[in-house]
Amino acid sequence: IRQSNKSRKSECYVMDKGNKMKNLRINNRFTAELPADPDLTNEVRQVKNTLFSYVNPVKPSNPKLIHASEEVVDLVGISKDEIHSEEFLNIFSGKEILPESKPYAMCYAGHQFGNWAGQLGDGRAINLTEVENNNQFYTLQLKGAGKTPYSRTADGLAVLRSSIREYLCAEAMYHLGVPTTRSLSLVLSGDQVLRDVLYNGNPAYEKGAIVCRVAPSFIRFGSFEMLTARNELKNLKQFVEYTIQHYFPEIKGEPKEQYLQFFQKVADTTREMILHWQRVGFVHGVMNTDNMSVHGITIDYGPYGWLENYDPDWTPNTTDRQNRRYRFGNQPQVAQWNLFQLANALYPLINEAAPLEKILDSFIIEFDSEYKEMFLSKLGLFTSSEADDKIIKGLEEILQLSETDMTIFFRNLSKIKKDDSVEQAFEKVEYAFYIPEEIKGNVLDAWQKWFAVYLKRLNSELLSDEERILKMNQVNPKYVLRNYMAQLAIDAADKEDYSLVDELFQLLKNPYDEQPEFEKWFAKRPDWARTKVGCSMLSCSS
Ligand code: AMP
Ligand code: MG
Repeated sequence: IRQSNKSRKSECYVMDKGNKMKNLRINNRFTAELPADPDLTNEVRQVKNTLFSYVNPVKPSNPKLIHASEEVVDLVGISKDEIHSEEFLNIFSGKEILPESKPYAMCYAGHQFGNWAGQLGDGRAINLTEVENNNQFYTLQLKGAGKTPYSRTADGLAVLRSSIREYLCAEAMYHLGVPTTRSLSLVLSGDQVLRDVLYNGNPAYEKGAIVCRVAPSFIRFGSFEMLTARNELKNLKQFVEYTIQHYFPEIKGEPKEQYLQFFQKVADTTREMILHWQRVGFVHGVMNTDNMSVHGITIDYGPYGWLENYDPDWTPNTTDRQNRRYRFGNQPQVAQWNLFQLANALYPLINEAAPLEKILDSFIIEFDSEYKEMFLSKLGLFTSSEADDKIIKGLEEILQLSETDMTIFFRNLSKIKKDDSVEQAFEKVEYAFYIPEEIKGNVLDAWQKWFAVYLKRLNSELLSDEERILKMNQVNPKYVLRNYMAQLAIDAADKEDYSLVDELFQLLKNPYDEQPEFEKWFAKRPDWARTKVGCSMLSCSS
């Protein structure tokens, strides 16, 4: 092990050649092809005319591996046998850096809660390297690995609590079929981190942790917004072309045509991602434009949450309690708004508003029709007619009359048989009600009416009950990472018991399977979790 470039003022060491992980194929396109910040000092500042700054992770005092995803380790080209090696721990805690790699933080800007925020950048994320495996490129990024020129007033660190949430949720989302960044490893840093969880003047020390996350790239809408806002149009052009060449090679044609096709692709993949969020009941919580990936993958798991009782107005993020901008039901509109910001950022290259507006306008129209199809599939209806709009609207309304667990309701709906009576059908979903005493009078009436229409409609479908249950169970997960589940894993991990992190990790690998041994996780949120911090209330403090 030899010491790295001293001018970078870091305590990092470069791993010796002849090391393990020799199968990793390092290929740093981003830093090789795009303009770097010539200033190597790791000081908070405005970083202009560049896309990234070289910066090494801070050396953790006593790193310890909590968990690693074998699948992701394999995906990027590391042998599973190496997970428990010293090298693995050292690299993914930031203690050492890989040979032939120069870690860097990316410069980007963004709109936060609807307002222009100027330069943001990777304040606590450090890209270790890009690797190539099986003709795919992956960026390996540490989150919580120390300060960068973009850290503003913060410490560049992450706490165990939020790291467990990110680590577990990204993998859970992947296995649900939702486009997402992946999690490679979860490591304790051995350092203490000061956080004021509720922003109420009660800071406390928490355990620090580092997640290594993996994505094709970490390019965000805000990466382009930054260049346009600063009128760095040469860099904008170069960066858009870089992105198209490496990540959208199918795009061909005149430059302008290419930029428009690029925007269309980002709109399409973003729409697909949001559709999945609405399908599984995921609320991102901080859909700022700096948290929107150009790959249409879910990125930056902060104060996210899962719908328990179906409520389109729900947001897990306490910082957003007032306006509820990022509430469940508003996610498609926010995605469109964010795309509008991306369109503005690309405009100087296109100089024509109409084609961009056309893509933006069709976003919601296409979303609505795809949403209908998706919702019907959750109901086991695989053909669609005009009349189905009423079934969907009707159900969305009744689900809110009394607290009804979204995941349990849809999962149990598949148990209904075509020749069930209304009463028999209703009994099969009763477990989803949080307050069964409320299901009487008008509410019960509404349910009975809805089920009468639904049963009739089911009978017009060609699929048999057996065929339908199989298909429904592929779109309605049995297990999701409920907020209280993550919190239980966090509470145990805080006491150095990581068994629940592993149990949830394993459970959520097969969210659509019955897994009878895990049946206890097919349960409504317990009462204690209703108002507990971390379960129903989350802040951006992480
Ligand atoms: P987020 O809301 O987590 O997406 O973060 C918004 C911006 O704040 C990004 O530029 C982050 O890099 C930065 N940031 C968040 N937490 C920290 C931290 N603890 N230290 C430094 N920068 C941070
Ligand atoms: Mg972010």
